[in-house]
Amino acid sequence: MTLGYAVGTDVGRVRSDNQDAVFADGTLFVVADGMGGHAGGGVASQVAIGTLADEISKGHSLPEAIAAANAAVYERSLEDSLLEGMGTTLTAACGNESGRVGIYNIGDSRAYLYSKGQLYQLTSDHTFVQELVDSGSITKEQAAIHRARHVLTRALGIAELVVPDAFEIQLNGGDILLLCSDGLINELSDEEIGQVLTLGLPLPETVSRLIDLANAHGGNDNISVVLATLDDGHPGTPESLVVTRMAQSSPQVPLRGMNRILQPIPTSMVERSSWKRALARFGIFVAVIGVFGAAVVLAVSLYVNHSYYVGLAGARVAIYQGRVGGILWFQPHVVRVTSLRTDRLSPAVRSQLVSGVDEGSVAQALRFVANATKQIELSRSATLAGVIVSVVV
Ligand code: MG
Repeated sequence: MTLGYAVGTDVGRVRSDNQDAVFADGTLFVVADGMGGHAGGGVASQVAIGTLADEISKGHSLPEAIAAANAAVYERSLEDSLLEGMGTTLTAACGNESGRVGIYNIGDSRAYLYSKGQLYQLTSDHTFVQELVDSGSITKEQAAIHRARHVLTRALGIAELVVPDAFEIQLNGGDILLLCSDGLINELSDEEIGQVLTLGLPLPETVSRLIDLANAHGGNDNISVVLATLDDGHPGTPESLVVTRMAQSSPQVPLRGMNRILQPIPTSMVERSSWKRALARFGIFVAVIGVFGAAVVLAVSLYVNHSYYVGLAGARVAIYQGRVGGILWFQPHVVRVTSLRTDRLSPAVRSQLVSGVDEGSVAQALRFVANATKQIELSRSATLAGVIVSVVV
């Protein structure tokens, strides 16, 4: 019985060729990310995976197969000057239905374990910036944007010997083992990868979703993903988050044998990430509404400040700034009280002023009052003249 799996590799949106290579057959799972120029990278990853699968099929162990793959890539690079210096990352896992999985890693492709809603990074990158992180010189966040983040400290096929990191995990029912090239992790955070796995989609859809998402975020590199899982309902063995760093494959290198307890990427971070995005969206919405609201208030304020009307203020005719009745919270206010008394107004003019007579400026409003006053004076003169004529007659 083999493990269930799905694989996917994509050129991305920037590169012209895919120098990644993937392999999975239910027992062996591999991701390789080639390097070494236009021709070399693709050749290195293909030769490495081809040799690896061939050696495993012949019954060799994974460490033996990796050593053979290293030799094959290295010798090929010596044979062809165009391929000089080529190499590849390699993350390989070998497992069976018991769920026991051995994982070997060289370079900055990664292996993750998704278990019970939490994502664990199993491998550690062999990069210059990872060494800076390990020494405490920079943070993981700074490493993610560091200019030298692509500089590898270990690769397969660049020397006669290669020293992979080795781990062993117990895959339980429902767990997912994820192998990927840096084209995925440079575009998606661990939290975003965890969010996709949390959806519980069929493995092929999960692979597609991850690759699509990485492309949506830029697709600046080739993107490769391999997923492996036990069949649902497999009893497995009691869950353990202890990953064993296995003996190094090279006898020249002293063993750094140790067990390390993996620090999970808590689902709360996944939830917090969603929560943060929702909050950010709400913040943008509020900001847009705020700017729009401020623009409306400013426009109304300008309109009100350039509006005047003539109206009544107690026993006097007055000039107001603003609009009759007010707009929003901008209420009209008296800017000038004239000498014209309201008891001198004709009923018609008085009625006009009760409703307010709009004018464009204080000067125009004063002209209106002056004309009204003049009309009253003329009317009064005419009345007096009529009285005098009547007396004379
Ligand atoms: Mg890459």
